[in-house]
Amino acid sequence: MRLSKTHLKTLREAPSDAVLESHKLLVRANMIRQEAAGLYMFPKLGYRTIRKVEQIVREEMDYIDCQEVYMPHVNPAELWQETGRWYAYGPELWRIKDRNGNDFILNPTCEEMFTDFVRKEWSSYKELPFSLYHIQFKYRDESRPRYGLLRTREFIMKDAYSFDATEEDLHTAYMRQYHAYEKVFTRCGLDYRIVEADNGPIGGSKSHEFSALSDWGESDILYCDECGMAATVERAECSDEAPVKEEMQPTEVVFTPGTKTIEDVCNYLKLPVEKSIKALMFTTYDTDLNPKDNVVCFVRGDRQLNMTKLVNALDIPAHYIEFADEDIMGPITGSVAGFTGPIGLKNCIVVVDSELVGTVNMCAGANKEDHHMLGVCYGRDYKGDIVTDIKELQEGDPCPHCGKPVKFRRGIEVGQIFKLGLKYSESMNATFKDENGEDHPYWMGCYGIGVSRTMQAVVEQHHDDKGIIWPLSVAPYHVIVTVIKSQDETQLNLAYDIEKKLEAMGVEVMVDDRDERPGVKFNDADLIGIPIRITVGKLAGEGKVEYKLRREDDHEVMSAEEAIAKAKALVDLEGDGRYLFKNLSEETLNAH
Ligand SMILES: [Zn+2]
Repeated sequence: MRLSKTHLKTLREAPSDAVLESHKLLVRANMIRQEAAGLYMFPKLGYRTIRKVEQIVREEMDYIDCQEVYMPHVNPAELWQETGRWYAYGPELWRIKDRNGNDFILNPTCEEMFTDFVRKEWSSYKELPFSLYHIQFKYRDESRPRYGLLRTREFIMKDAYSFDATEEDLHTAYMRQYHAYEKVFTRCGLDYRIVEADNGPIGGSKSHEFSALSDWGESDILYCDECGMAATVERAECSDEAPVKEEMQPTEVVFTPGTKTIEDVCNYLKLPVEKSIKALMFTTYDTDLNPKDNVVCFVRGDRQLNMTKLVNALDIPAHYIEFADEDIMGPITGSVAGFTGPIGLKNCIVVVDSELVGTVNMCAGANKEDHHMLGVCYGRDYKGDIVTDIKELQEGDPCPHCGKPVKFRRGIEVGQIFKLGLKYSESMNATFKDENGEDHPYWMGCYGIGVSRTMQAVVEQHHDDKGIIWPLSVAPYHVIVTVIKSQDETQLNLAYDIEKKLEAMGVEVMVDDRDERPGVKFNDADLIGIPIRITVGKLAGEGKVEYKLRREDDHEVMSAEEAIAKAKALVDLEGDGRYLFKNLSEETLNAH
């Protein structure tokens, strides 16, 4: 490929709304262009990397006999009404109508359509197990698209679905995908961590997230070096601290003027914050988004409420709950904004964090303006309608498994896998016949990889102040041949000769033969991050060139033949990313 005949419009400045280095660099390197909020175009170089990532995904899916198919992007609403997700999915579900007023959606994920496909096409246990996947655009009507390819309204995703006869077989299918994912992200050159995750609107019983580590990231991960525990903040269990044993005191209402926060109260009363109870109030909504229930949650004063655990405890979708307007809720429940406590509430669902069970002599709001109550004891004075873990595990807290302090990292979610169980097969009546002709629902799993996200995550991990440093496996081209002086026939001919020879060996080459200053060419080469640079300059007459790797500072002068051989050898070694399999376990490598 010759740049003299190819569009490349690199930019000095990143768009003003870009926060992440990866977002800035992808735009500056002319690999992505935003058409409208959260909708991206992929110019040539960017699309080549997308296809490289897709190809790696495809090879690892094919390796585990996952069958590639292709489904429509538009789904009839009926399928989503069958599973109830038409109502439960929330405002991110992109709903459209056809000219006759029929409802459709743009796929955010594809469980319904695959289940429908399978119930129509498959029927016998003899064909089990099997799994299917496709790579296509997905849609999410994001309220605030941002961060380049990380929060878009249209994105490229691989999603796979497995169909099995038993729960054990589902586990086998799940682990096969798990190991395939390890290979995919390893080949892409990502430093990632596998963490337990919440199932969210997909549903099911178990989930893992594959998170590319990054200083910035919307996925918060807690992990333990001691025992290997790793989970997203939403998911991470939090162990209850045992209550302090002391004799129960009678309750006592005390005057605490103007102390609206837990810190204020504890300072005012000179109490440790662990001796206080914090209240949080919510309103839930029904399927028509009319207010349904008042919910009051209590956690220990030093804890944070985990919203995911709360909506799971209430068994409602995340968008059916909002912080309450306490002034409206007060007269109904008997609570008083800033002074809400667990004693004497009415007309509400009380959710108590399990850690409060057995606690005595705590300080809580008195449900009276400017007053708190001391001596509050669980069991004697109040109980919960729901009692469960609703608190957030935080950095430094004891690991729920081994007790050592947990650590915190951020990451970019690049993949997630789910055990769905029977959720979709039962609601959509997708069954197979066993040996005796009896019908059974499929045990299902689903497995997603964000292809466009993966591309940006790679850049987030592989760049310097000059630009992107692509790993060979996902680079748009392997080699860039930079011609210092394009009007010089000798230089140009040598460059084209190198191009021809490398291409004959299967190496992907771009030649920068543009009529530009050398400085512009070097800057562009660094910015777009092609892994190997061969520079053809004034030594061309002697058949000599400079050979330089984007990831290294130094260059070497050598014959063109040597440079060709070196480039070819490196592409052979690193081109498909499999050389990094040395970091994977035997179990992963043997999974098939
Ligand atoms: Zn641990």
